[in-house]
Amino acid sequence: MLYIIGAVNSIPLDTLSHGAATLGVTLSPYMLDAFEKYASLLIAWNKKINLTAIVVPQHIVEKHFLDSLSLLTLLPQGPASIIDIGTGAGFPGIPLAIVRPDLAVTLVEATAKKAYFLKAIKTALGLRNVTIVIDRAETLAHQPRLRETFDVAVGRAVAELATLAELTLPFVRINGMVVAQKNLGSESIERATVAIETLGGIYEKEVAVPLPALADRRLIVIRKKTPTLAMYPRRVGVPAKKPIGN
Ligand code: SAH
Repeated sequence: MLYIIGAVNSIPLDTLSHGAATLGVTLSPYMLDAFEKYASLLIAWNKKINLTAIVVPQHIVEKHFLDSLSLLTLLPQGPASIIDIGTGAGFPGIPLAIVRPDLAVTLVEATAKKAYFLKAIKTALGLRNVTIVIDRAETLAHQPRLRETFDVAVGRAVAELATLAELTLPFVRINGMVVAQKNLGSESIERATVAIETLGGIYEKEVAVPLPALADRRLIVIRKKTPTLAMYPRRVGVPAKKPIGN
């Protein structure tokens, strides 16, 4: 008997385009094609190197692509620079770069193997607005060309909020912002307040994501108000081991 199950790697493009529309962006055929290529390369490379536990096409669309695009509602309208710390297989940075060619996206990833995947994606998708850096945030944040230069810093599933603040706020210009993606009730903001304020930031707001599949998600916005002291971030590993204020 013959079962026709469709192309193994095809992703639900209707879910993707409807979700994106709800988040305020119309995906062009070119962008949809880029997401399809991204998904199939993710699935193929994931068999060789550990990139993600999420491999079901529907889940790739919801938990990787749309979850990344949920940040769109908070990003500046015009050209802006964004740094994605601990991007892994490119989330949230690559989906944002696909739909916003006017964003200059810097992807930071400590693991070289994952960075090779990011380079393959950048080439396959022709993403000229993406820069890939293989290093630790603790080291990079002390480089003058990167320190306090970005409009926005993000980092998904990298660390608890106090640690994430130390890995992201040093990169952000005054009046720029950090946006952290967290599950509702997963962390208390209070536990990170000392860290945020020590690093020159202030907790601004928390917003929900207007998609049923992402009903538990919250976007936490931290605004940069004053320069970060030169001693931050501390040495590699210290922000995670000993979060400020904890
Ligand atoms: N943001 C991706 C990956 C999360 S896993 C996603 O949401 O799917 C966390 C990633 O951050 C890992 O790939 C790890 O190598 C990287 N990472 C952790 N600490 C880091 C640091 N200090 N500097 C740079 N990358 C880091």
